Amino acid sequence: MEPDVVVAGAGHNSLITACYLAKAGLRVLVVEANPVPGGGCVTEELLLPGYEIDSCATGHTLIRTNPVLADDELGLVADHGIAYVDPDPVAHVGFPDGGHFTMSLDREATIAEFGRFSKADGDAYARLLAEYDDVKHVFARAQHTPAGLGPSLDQLLAEHPRARIWQRRRMLSAWDVIRTEFESREARAFLLWMAFQTNQAMDVPGTGMLAYSIVSGRQQRSWSILRGGSGRLTDALVAYLEERGGEVRCGEPVARLLLEDGRCVGVETEAGARYRASRAVVSSIHVSHLIDMAPRQTWPEEFDYAIRTYDVGIPGFGVYCLSDLPPVFETQDGPRTSVSAGTVGWPEDVLRLGFDLRHGRFVTDVPWLLVATPTLVDPGRAPEGGHTVKLLSHQVYEPPGGLDAWPEAKAAHAARQLEHLRRYTPSFTDEHILAMLVKSPADFEAANRHMVHGTFHGGDRGLAQSGPNRPAPGWAAHRMPFPGLYQTGATTNPGGSITGIPGRNAARVVLADLGIDPDAVLCAGGTIATGATTEPPA
Ligand SMILES: Cc1cc2nc3c(=O)[nH]c(=O)nc-3n(C[C@H](O)[C@H](O)[C@H](O)COP(=O)(O)OP(=O)(O)OC[C@H]3O[C@@H](n4cnc5c(N)ncnc54)[C@H](O)[C@@H]3O)c2cc1C
Repeated sequence: MEPDVVVAGAGHNSLITACYLAKAGLRVLVVEANPVPGGGCVTEELLLPGYEIDSCATGHTLIRTNPVLADDELGLVADHGIAYVDPDPVAHVGFPDGGHFTMSLDREATIAEFGRFSKADGDAYARLLAEYDDVKHVFARAQHTPAGLGPSLDQLLAEHPRARIWQRRRMLSAWDVIRTEFESREARAFLLWMAFQTNQAMDVPGTGMLAYSIVSGRQQRSWSILRGGSGRLTDALVAYLEERGGEVRCGEPVARLLLEDGRCVGVETEAGARYRASRAVVSSIHVSHLIDMAPRQTWPEEFDYAIRTYDVGIPGFGVYCLSDLPPVFETQDGPRTSVSAGTVGWPEDVLRLGFDLRHGRFVTDVPWLLVATPTLVDPGRAPEGGHTVKLLSHQVYEPPGGLDAWPEAKAAHAARQLEHLRRYTPSFTDEHILAMLVKSPADFEAANRHMVHGTFHGGDRGLAQSGPNRPAPGWAAHRMPFPGLYQTGATTNPGGSITGIPGRNAARVVLADLGIDPDAVLCAGGTIATGATTEPPA
């Protein structure tokens, strides 16, 4: 029987959309290019049996406040075993001179850590948290409201007593904010390390909020780790969908949109299979690919222009290690381990890195490194005593010599990164590394076509591509230029990371357009449109 809705792509966002639509009683078919669902939210035995590696995302801090989990609107916590660990320390970072910064879940301890470098910086951090606490509900409401379905961020901010400060702040760069508020190079370097995890260059206007939002979220619930690995979220979403008659078909890349009388009525796969939908098509195909799935002249000129000028963002580079000990950071205050750890250069090094990346200069040093070791708090991901360690950084899409040069270039770059890391973690030697895999930006792109050029977050999140401009001015409310076609995923507001926000927002728009009350579905428990309860089948 023809499904009501066909969803192209099975990342966490489009699965969330699919689940809400299924909750409303709609028949949903998801068509996924990869052999497994999940996109950037997967856990796989990439190297050795028994070692469960988060191939992409590990930290889930952002989705914790999404009502999909905060209010358990799909029963993923109650019925599907979703459970988080909030690691403490929150983060540990080494500086070029051998100094370090350790962030704790205890707010006062973190203030004291800033105070080690400057009393004024301790005060500045306390002020940063308090000021953001006072306004974060405004930003959250704007993010959870599809463009045009409620007041805009500007309208919401205007009602805040400190509107003028925040209006300026969000137009500034993260670096502008950090250097205005903090004086020591250690505080500045630590905050840049934190904010650069979004893969946004730190001196670009419009990144100012990153100086507040990331560190504030981490102070509350650390770099939240999903017990068992990121892939458990995907498993839970697929199970929810299947329990409600939905289906996920993997290994079927979508190549074309089916258009009839200007309306999108389904998709066609690369193998020629046609999947028609009686009511709607939802896509999480990257917008720069989506536009090639219908004749170019059928898209409005403004949409075409927005996609031609769409900046896919800064690519990533990854080194995956299995080891029999975690990276232990030696400091003058004793050894430290942290699920989220790393090293960072001084502010000028991080700013230069952002500039180089944006202008295509291959990175040959290590000014910024994230070292993720989830097995420190979730040991069940590896055989006893074993660890999964992931080194993440940024890199350009093409090394000198072109894409064919990646095999050699990535091995050399990984070796440089490990040598650098060992200045801080001397015991993390080759003898303790049981297996290793290096992924270049081209490898990330090959593993997930949504990660164009090996970028992680669906496109740059600067002013030109955020809020009502994402993915294109005029098409930010998840409705695409062809009636019947909706877009979700990281190319829609508010962008990438494991937030589930694009997924839930897209569900709201589709439901409303289909004449189903979204508030009856986007809620805990709730009733489906036909009036039946949404209790999982016995
Ligand atoms: C190494 C790495 C580490 C990361 N770490 C973190 C982290 O710790 N925390 C965090 O919040 N974020 C992290 N991210 C980013 C995060 O994984 C992504 O931003 C997030 O997965 C985006 O979710 P999505 O649902 O929008 O899209 P995706 O997860 O990219 O899913 C899109 C899906 O659509 C499918 N698809 C694309 N085109 C087609 C087509 N033509 N036909 C059919 N299917 C198609 C893809 O195969 C994919 O399954 C990381 C990413 C990487 C790569």
